Amino acid sequence: MFNTARWRLTVVFTGVVVVLLLVAGIAIYFTTSSLIYRRVDAELADKAQTELFLTDPGDHGGHGPDDHGAPPTGQFDQGGYFYAVSDTSGNVSSMSYDADDNSLVSANTLAAAVKNGSAVQQTTSANGEDQRVYALLVDHPGQSAQVLQIGRSIDSEQGALSELRTILLVTIIGSIIPALTGGYLLSGRALRPIRTSVDAQRAFVADASHELRTPVAVVKTNAELLVKHLQSGKLGQSPNDALAIEDILGETDRMAKLVSQMLTLAQVDAGQQTIAPSPMSLGELADEVGRSMRALADAKQLTLDVRADPAVWVEGQRDRLREVLVTLVDNAIKYTDAGGRVVLAVERRHRKAVVTVSDTGAGIPSDSLKHIFERFYRVDKARTRDEGGTGLGLAIARHMVAAHGGDIRIDSDVGKGTRITIELRLLAHEVTTDEPLSQSSAAN
Ligand code: ADP
Repeated sequence: MFNTARWRLTVVFTGVVVVLLLVAGIAIYFTTSSLIYRRVDAELADKAQTELFLTDPGDHGGHGPDDHGAPPTGQFDQGGYFYAVSDTSGNVSSMSYDADDNSLVSANTLAAAVKNGSAVQQTTSANGEDQRVYALLVDHPGQSAQVLQIGRSIDSEQGALSELRTILLVTIIGSIIPALTGGYLLSGRALRPIRTSVDAQRAFVADASHELRTPVAVVKTNAELLVKHLQSGKLGQSPNDALAIEDILGETDRMAKLVSQMLTLAQVDAGQQTIAPSPMSLGELADEVGRSMRALADAKQLTLDVRADPAVWVEGQRDRLREVLVTLVDNAIKYTDAGGRVVLAVERRHRKAVVTVSDTGAGIPSDSLKHIFERFYRVDKARTRDEGGTGLGLAIARHMVAAHGGDIRIDSDVGKGTRITIELRLLAHEVTTDEPLSQSSAAN
């Protein structure tokens, strides 16, 4: 799929480059050609304005129509110029030896020159050669108007233009291979982030399906067992029935949590998980989370200690930050054995609001730490499953903290415990002083 897209992009890129070069080439060619002909026309006009012809067009040393064989004595016999003098109807009275009727401007052009009383230019063709001719109406008082035509071969100009055409064509054709190579490299680079994101989505869907398979299988097996007992009239007689119902409820809870977390991450990926922040006390939030998690800690015979400074305020979305704290405290309780200790602390440190959740639990091996915020990553899959973990909690927490413009990091020592630290921006007016915790608390 990506290779097809890459080649398509390459071909489109090459096409665009070639079309642009073609347009530029055409523009260069026509501009150059027009400049060249303008110079030739100016040169012929200069020539025509020579004193000799303007002062006395009838006496220019030329020869009448019958004298074509002899060279003119004027300057037009030098430098490859030819000339002709005619009346306004085109009847030639004098013409240089190297001109013939085909060299001269057409009758229509001549008529236009006469009508407008101005000079005209035309490219003519004689003896297999193109010539540029300049026709000038010469109207001396007391004399009948005459038309002077001066021209010369434009062979050398056409040769130069033909060379230019070849150069442009070679450049355009020669650009195809570099354009293909460049397009291929560029499209590869442009598609890389899309490819990474699609690969991540594929992995996410595969992991999600895998995660859902087990609970679905557990629910099905237990439901089948219950149906069997129902059909045999023995439902409720075996202690396994109660366990089966417990399993079904436990797995449906897990599935519900998994689905809701996947939905959150899908919204994060779609950029729909924006936050609506408002000023809030992080310390108060921590106290509330501590209260709601205390029963869980007691059930596991853990000490849950909350050291929260209510004076620490941030700009945040309360329910999202609550979700993050619950995930962290829940993990700390889940992965700490009975008799251990979990501490949730909120303080102001280095002009930041800092939340730490530390425990005296199993800890995380250092090679797992770099993967810990990845989706579906779990250090000990069996234990996590037993604890009802999904492997998505920390991934979501990281997104939520980032959405608040904060940082989250984890430190852990195997056998000693884990500490997760979140740093958030303090509310603007809070930053003005950096008082110690006790003073801030006293002030409130
Ligand atoms: P889960 O729902 O599995 O807890 P998380 O994303 O919250 O998913 O955590 C990912 C993994 O990180 C967990 O499965 C666990 O292996 C490890 N982990 C998280 N917090 C702790 C902790 N406080 N102590 C030890 N391991 C932890």
